[in-house]
Amino acid sequence: HSLFSAVPAAPPDPILSITAAFRADPSPKKVNLGVGAYRTDDGLPYVLPIVRQYERHFANDHSLNHEYLPQDGLTHFTVHSARLMFGKHSAPLNDNRVVTVQALSGTGALRIGFAFIATFLGQRLVYVPNPTWSNHRNVVPHAGLPPTRTYRYFDAATCAVDIDGLLADLKAAVPGSIVIFHGCAHNPTGADPSREQWKQILQVVKEAALVPFFDNAYQGFASGDLDTDAWSTRLFADSGIEMFVAQSYAKNMGMYGERVGALNVVLSSSSSVDIVRGQLKRLIRATYSSPPLHGARIAAAIMSDEHAFRSWQTELRTMSERIRNMRTRLRDCLVANGAPGNWDHIVKQIGMFSFTGLNAEQVRFIRSKYHVYMTLNGRISMAGLTEATVQYVADAICDAVK
Ligand code: PMP
Repeated sequence: HSLFSAVPAAPPDPILSITAAFRADPSPKKVNLGVGAYRTDDGLPYVLPIVRQYERHFANDHSLNHEYLPQDGLTHFTVHSARLMFGKHSAPLNDNRVVTVQALSGTGALRIGFAFIATFLGQRLVYVPNPTWSNHRNVVPHAGLPPTRTYRYFDAATCAVDIDGLLADLKAAVPGSIVIFHGCAHNPTGADPSREQWKQILQVVKEAALVPFFDNAYQGFASGDLDTDAWSTRLFADSGIEMFVAQSYAKNMGMYGERVGALNVVLSSSSSVDIVRGQLKRLIRATYSSPPLHGARIAAAIMSDEHAFRSWQTELRTMSERIRNMRTRLRDCLVANGAPGNWDHIVKQIGMFSFTGLNAEQVRFIRSKYHVYMTLNGRISMAGLTEATVQYVADAICDAVK
């Protein structure tokens, strides 16, 4: 008899279990479109040259050490992170009413943000888009809040945002609730609201007294431009409301495993800044004491040096262009194959993923016959496609839908 015999097995994570199945597949033809990380056209992980450059630089700088960071992280990093998110002309930044703490990438920012909400703002409901990144459903209750509720987001018929459903559901939400928005490159659908639609959403958020929590996992990675991708978050932040913003440098700096991110809390007045920061530090202290240094040091160096920043922007454009190119190639291959239906949504969607419209049965068929792996909801990672595999994947999809 063991102390642990009553522990139930955890259900497999819908995304991480695909990677495991892919690894176990011996077929030489296999293609992994489940992974949420950028790959080069050779199918390999990519370390940004500017990141490499600073790693070399820091390795040779013997004045640096590995002392602990404070609970809220590297100030040089958090200052630049907030500026990157909110922009040079940000009203809340200029008024000194944003609290920014370093976090364990985007997930850690969400987790600490929701722990703060659960501890100090009461048992509020949290609304997430339907569908959403599956981990939102885990993080929110794990932080001590009720299970998430959903608001309508995606219209399968048009493969675009269901703006009427979205606005209606937010209008009907319990006042004071938290609403998660994907700042750009909605995961998994790749469908974002237009600027006009974001303005409508802001209006409803204000009228319904909701509290936005922006999840920004893809700034600069969606359009290739850091400011363009921050547009929705800045619209809300500059409108004078209080809100939370999570940032991740996993995708846009390719530092997935270094866990570089930040949580920002936008307050209505600078008088609560010290109190909110103090409580966030206390939560962090009790959770993991202090964040990791290596990635934050690199990110801060890149963001604070004009020349490095320009290199980063170029590298971001290269990554997002490769992804956009793969969208066009896949759509064109599907059309050339005579795959029934309209495939323009693949080109219209933005970000890392495409919601193909394939159902679970078709996904399973493609997996067993072609060894092409994707999540059961038909989401494919465009970054997993290469010039060498795109035709093969199009053949597989065509076979599944015919
Ligand atoms: N939010 C969304 C919508 C994401 O897609 C991701 C990454 N898959 C994250 C947050 C967080 O990722 P990380 O913790 O690696 O920054």
